[in-house]
Amino acid sequence: MKFNRVVIKVGSALIAPDNNGCTGEHILAIASFITECKKAGKEVILVSSGSVAAGRQLIQHGSSAPSIRTKQAMSSVGQMQMMANWQRFFDVPCSQILITHSDLKNRRRYINIKETIDILLENNIIPIVNENDTVVTKELKVGDNDNLAALVAGLSGADCLIILSDIDGLYDKNPKTNSDAIMLPEIKEITPEIYAMAGTTNNPIATGGMKTKIQAAEKAIGNGIETYIINGSDNTVFDKLLNGENPGTRFAPNSDPATARKHWLEHTLKSNGHVILDKGAINALVNEGASLLPSGIKSVSGIQSVTGKFSTGDTINIIDFETKKIIAKGICQYGYRDLSRIKGKNSDQIHNILGFCTSDVVIHRNDMVILSN
Ligand code: ADP
Repeated sequence: MKFNRVVIKVGSALIAPDNNGCTGEHILAIASFITECKKAGKEVILVSSGSVAAGRQLIQHGSSAPSIRTKQAMSSVGQMQMMANWQRFFDVPCSQILITHSDLKNRRRYINIKETIDILLENNIIPIVNENDTVVTKELKVGDNDNLAALVAGLSGADCLIILSDIDGLYDKNPKTNSDAIMLPEIKEITPEIYAMAGTTNNPIATGGMKTKIQAAEKAIGNGIETYIINGSDNTVFDKLLNGENPGTRFAPNSDPATARKHWLEHTLKSNGHVILDKGAINALVNEGASLLPSGIKSVSGIQSVTGKFSTGDTINIIDFETKKIIAKGICQYGYRDLSRIKGKNSDQIHNILGFCTSDVVIHRNDMVILSN
């Protein structure tokens, strides 16, 4: 096991195999695997489906295809059952994080989720993430937990994503309907041919099928995150994983997460403002690998063409006062207005000046790329 931080996605079929409440049938082995990972010093985030299936028998519905409202009620009560089912297999505490698509699109909320996950992991707690089914309607949904897990892996800086399903891996066609289907142990590149292999699922409680798992893998490997699709109902897979073997389908990333993140920062994110730094701060950033502190900032500016000034979570350029060159780019923890008030000050003054302190640093080292020019 080479990974340090892993996101494990567990499908509905493993949480509620009979589509009628949670069981420990598969969860026990998964929880033991997570405990072994944690003993080996790995950090684990769970993305767990199954709240609707878990709450199904507690809400009167009378039909095999309940309405959206009824499903939302099932999800509300089922989420508690599902969380309790996980907790009973761990000695360490579990925490619940319910996310909607708009939370991931809003930069401030995105940062809130990311930082909360960091603090939970530092405190040896297992974050368990699910889509907040009770409040979202279809158009506001990520829609499936495979894609949600890939987004959580990117957000949390994970280096591995494991998607646990009821099938051994990706086959060249749906193995449930084609007895001659062959499993593919290693995928080096996700092409339209790979997508063409993905059939739907015939499991009534599942939402994704293979297509969403391939989409998730594509997102994750693009962020340098190694991805596996593995059969979580087969107890033998976990020992193989612990021994560094691949018991399912592995999707190989073409770079490591740090390089992929720097590439994304440098080439994808558009800057909405800039800060000008003194010589000492430039030296700390370029030569000592430091984060940017407010004390080294001489001035702050938004970019003229942009309506308004930059906000928390926007990308800004970092400019050298002497050469006037852009030497780095990064995601800023404070918006224009607040940053203008704390520039040149020590981090321990932030709270007194602003009345709050979301971060001691203005741009964290991991959110910054030094440009090579
Ligand atoms: P989960 O609930 O774990 O997310 P799904 O039921 O949504 O799982 O997806 C897994 C199912 O996808 C498998 O059980 C299988 O029936 C189906 N499937 C379709 N095409 C393929 C394929 N090419 N390889 C593997 N499984 C496939």
